[in-house]
Order: sequence, then structure tokens, then C-alpha cells
Amino acid sequence: MNRKYRLGIIGHPLGHTLSPVMHTAAAARLGLDLAYDPFDVKPANLAGFMAGLRDGPLDGLNVTVPHKTAVMEYLDTVSPEAERIGAVNTIVIRGGRLAGENTDAYGFMASLTQNARVNPAGKRALVIGAGGAARAVVWALALAGARTAIANRTEDRARGIAADFAIAGAGVAVIPFDPDKLAEAARAAEIIVNATSVGMKSAGPGALAEVERHFHPGQLVVDIVYRPPLTPFLAAAQRAGCATLDGLWMLIHQGAKSFTLWTSRPFPVELAREKLLEALGEERAG
Ligand code: NAP
Repeated sequence: MNRKYRLGIIGHPLGHTLSPVMHTAAAARLGLDLAYDPFDVKPANLAGFMAGLRDGPLDGLNVTVPHKTAVMEYLDTVSPEAERIGAVNTIVIRGGRLAGENTDAYGFMASLTQNARVNPAGKRALVIGAGGAARAVVWALALAGARTAIANRTEDRARGIAADFAIAGAGVAVIPFDPDKLAEAARAAEIIVNATSVGMKSAGPGALAEVERHFHPGQLVVDIVYRPPLTPFLAAAQRAGCATLDGLWMLIHQGAKSFTLWTSRPFPVELAREKLLEALGEERAG
């Protein structure tokens, strides 16, 4: 008899999560019996929700804001990468044991190498933002040997990431969030990543606008925000003649790795992209 996979995503507020779209489409393509449901869990209810997982029906979960760090204390094991990044975005549940993984760093790096076809080793990279997603992005870049700099509105958070990821041979520099320093860093960077949650609307006057002014051909500009896939930041990069990479690819590849951890099956990434673009088109039309 075919196995049934029961999966889902926890976060709060969950809003209109796109993860069910790609996981159910992938399962249908592969002929798997799979359900993937959103669970909107308030922080105050997290402990109770996690306690119910050991004897419950679920085989795995994705974890999103604000629970990526908070879930760690309820897990039996946490992968060394998730431990280092300080965040879990995937839980595998087997035999009543909960194992935490982080697939965001893989998702970012797979999008860079497979979709933008850029190897970051030795390249100058500027990451703007220092939230949970930026931690995975900076970790992935530093591990791949990029010369990484990070700038964030709240500089202390950037300093925290730089201190945590001071990997031998690939130190992470902190750039002050002021126009002159950002301009200098943006001009010099070969890869620029927006990992802030500023994305859906035009940046207006401020840090991202300052960076946009210094886009030039030869740079790869990445926005991990994917609503819409062509953000104003990426549109400005295209106008300046830069190569661009949207956040949907990172979303797809992190989902692909989670899917394979749960089902041991490869994930149809092109199908996922097609279905996500359809869903986003419907959101915009509706
Ligand atoms: P987060 O932990 O809440 O961090 C938000 C970041 O944005 C912080 O660095 C924050 O700076 C910065 N920020 C917010 N408003 C700003 C503003 N007006 N000006 C300058 N900086 C501002 O969020 P997260 O989990 O890292 O997620 C960030 C974005 O990445 C979200 O849009 C999320 O949807 C997206 N994401 C995409 C993927 C993917 O697979 N493509 C995966 C994860 C997340 P402060 O520290 O100063 O507050």
C-alpha cells in the first residue's frame, strides 16, 4: 500500500503561504499521497503544538517566522548547519523523534549556482539585512568562500552575524548603514543581495535606494523577497544592466531539499516554479 505523507508549515501570521502550492503539485507529479497544511500557531501556543507532534499524525513540517529559532528547544536533534545558522526551517518526524534542519542556506546557494550560474567563491558580496533569512544567506556565502559584507538598519544585528560566522579565511565585514559607506560597498560588490523584508513596495529614499543608484553591469543582484517576483529592487537592477535572480528560486530550492528529506524523492523544480508563478499571478489578479 502507498505511504501517506502528512506535512505542513507553522508560522504566525501565516498569511497566504505558497508552500502548499509547490509541495502538493510536486506530490501529484510523482504520484505520492501527500497532504500539506498550514498551521497558524501563535508564539504562546508553540510549546503545546510541539508537544503534540511526537504522537501525532505529521511526518514533517516547515517552520517560518517567528518560530525558526524558538522551535529548536523542542527538537531531539538539530543539524550542525541549522545549529550554526541558529534557525530551523524544516522538521522531520520519524518514530516519535523530531529532527531539525535548515534548508534556506542550501536554497539560496542552489539558486545562485543553478539559476544565476554564479560561483561566489572569491567574489565580493554585499548582503543587506540581518534577520533570520540574512543569517542563512550570509552563512551560505561565507561557507562558499565569498568575501562577504553585511549592512543592516540595526547595526548590532549585523555585528552579531559577523561575529557568529567568522569562519577561517572568510571573515564577514560589517558596513555602516549610512549613504556614503553603502554607496562604496555597492559599487565594489559583484553580488548584491536584498535580504530585508523591504521588497513589495518601492524602497523610497533610504538604504536600498542608495544601493540601487550604484548598480552597474557585471553585477548580480538578488532579491530574496518573492512577492512580486520582479521587485522594484530587481527592476532597478535590470534597468542598470545587471544580471538578476529572484527569491522564488530560493523558495523553490529550500522546499526541494525539505521535500527530499521527508519523502526521499527528487523535487520537480521547474513544475514548482510554474505553479508558484500561476498562484502569484492569481493573487495579483484577485
Ligand atoms: P526578519 O527576521 O523579520 O528580518 C527583517 C529584516 O529586514 C531585518 O534585517 C530588518 O532590519 C530589515 N528591515 C525591515 N524593514 C526595513 C526597512 N524599512 N528598512 C531597512 N531594513 C528593514 O525577516 P526574515 O525572516 O529575515 O525575512 C526577510 C525577507 O526574506 C521576508 O520578506 C521574507 O519573505 C523573505 N524570505 C524569503 C525566502 C525565500 O526562500 N526566498 C526565505 C526566507 C525569507 P532591522 O534589523 O533593522 O529591523
